[in-house]
Amino acid sequence: MPKITSKTLSYESEPCNRCGSKRRISKTWKEKIPTLTGGILIQFHSQIVCTNTVCQNAFDKLLFEEKQKREDIRLKKLTGKSR
Ligand SMILES: [Zn+2]
Repeated sequence: MPKITSKTLSYESEPCNRCGSKRRISKTWKEKIPTLTGGILIQFHSQIVCTNTVCQNAFDKLLFEEKQKREDIRLKKLTGKSR
């Protein structure tokens, strides 16, 4: 999963830090977060991907592997078998 940040202007215009290619916004969405005071905070998010598909695919793969690893660790902790 590409890096997700709360929306900041001009962030997507920064070049990719892996290959230097331009990046683009692949999707944007809003998230409603309830606040402690009973209100709702709306946060804007944007998912930014590299326009270089080779770079982006490699990055997606890396993130997927990282996610698998974290999931592994989590499961081991749950079952108490981690050492
Ligand atoms: Zn890139």
